[in-house]
Amino acid sequence: MKVRFAPSPTGRLHVGNIRTALMNWLFAKRIGASFLLRIDDTDFARSTKAFEDGIRTDLAWLGLAWDEEDKQSARSARYEAAAETLKASGLLYACYETAEELDRKRKIALSRGRPPIYDRAALKLSDAEKAAFEAEGRVPHWRFKLSGARVAWTDLVRGEQTIDTASISDPVLIRADGAFLYTLPSVVDDIELGVTHVIRGEDHVANTGVQIEIFRALSDRLPTFGHFPLLVGADGEALSKRLGSMSIEDLRAKGVEPMAILSLLAKLGTSDAVEAVATLGALAETFDFAKVGRAPARFDPDDVGRLNAQLLHGAAYVDVQGRLAALGADRGEAAWNAVRANLSVLADAADWARVIDGPVSPVIEDAAFCATAASLLPVELGPDAWGAWTGAVKAATGAKGRALFLPLRQALTGMDHGPEMGPLLALIGREKALKRLAGEAA
Ligand code: GLU
Repeated sequence: MKVRFAPSPTGRLHVGNIRTALMNWLFAKRIGASFLLRIDDTDFARSTKAFEDGIRTDLAWLGLAWDEEDKQSARSARYEAAAETLKASGLLYACYETAEELDRKRKIALSRGRPPIYDRAALKLSDAEKAAFEAEGRVPHWRFKLSGARVAWTDLVRGEQTIDTASISDPVLIRADGAFLYTLPSVVDDIELGVTHVIRGEDHVANTGVQIEIFRALSDRLPTFGHFPLLVGADGEALSKRLGSMSIEDLRAKGVEPMAILSLLAKLGTSDAVEAVATLGALAETFDFAKVGRAPARFDPDDVGRLNAQLLHGAAYVDVQGRLAALGADRGEAAWNAVRANLSVLADAADWARVIDGPVSPVIEDAAFCATAASLLPVELGPDAWGAWTGAVKAATGAKGRALFLPLRQALTGMDHGPEMGPLLALIGREKALKRLAGEAA
């Protein structure tokens, strides 16, 4: 069994593309299929090597490993061969209309209240008429002759589906300049590369009606199809308008964890709760197309931040140590456990490493209060030291609640907010704590 993710290298991957990649990846894991990365680079004008490399970089960073790879620009001969087969069986026919002529036909059909479906005039051309067009210098484009029947399939997400091919224009498979549009190469690849499950967004449902007829013309085997609802913005609007800020590249630059993105994209629009899941393997275990709803999935960028914080708060030291060290923020397991609940992104750990190491400029509003507190600071800063100390300061000064805790936090960290003070005090240590309570940068 084999699935494929087939991005076009005409831009960086965004959360919408990754949802498709992820659905394929999780499904493949679940059923033991292999995962093919297919670079759909038939659009030579817009495809670039840099975008192609970006696709691999982004997938690798997310951990969406692929088992094999192919690209359409290397397979043109196969598409030519398939086109010849279709021409020989009369299913791919030459059309000579110019864009203006087609536009006129569309307008006339609409003005007569008819659907603007291609009228197949080209099928009625005699050889002499075709020769005359060619003598005029017209180069044909090629359309696939749909059956006009209903095409049916059982969709993994949508259940029983039918598309009435009489309601669709015969699709152009080859442009006048010889370029293959996406439709035919995709089918040829799916057949020849052995794809058994085609899983993609529901913007491809009508394509599937057409492509099933092409599959039938070229092969005796049909893949299983699954179309899941598209992502929309939090306000229900199409996501594409703001996708610029939702590229994987940008999210990575913002310090977002891969699993925050993947947890959200896997659970959004399903009957499962949206929550941070630590590994792709764990996501795969709960993956089921039966859980995918039919309504568009609302993507709220704030959820990425929320899940990212959740992941960090639950992360074990061993799982982040290497990255903390790379950030220069590894101060050991106790420090990680003390600060992780305060992180939005992992890089925030560096701020707390600085608070632990110093120098911190203490904020002191009441020097006498801090001096009293300093005189009561326990010698050993063990697990109970904070409770014992603040209890003693409270008894000596009468301060309680915020009036007790805030001045201590401000003196010791220079800040109003932060991690629980007990573990942090132990990490700062007695010497620096005394200096900070005395108003010295330490
Ligand atoms: N390159 C096509 C796209 O990005 C692939 C569609 C498909 O999965 O068949 O839309």
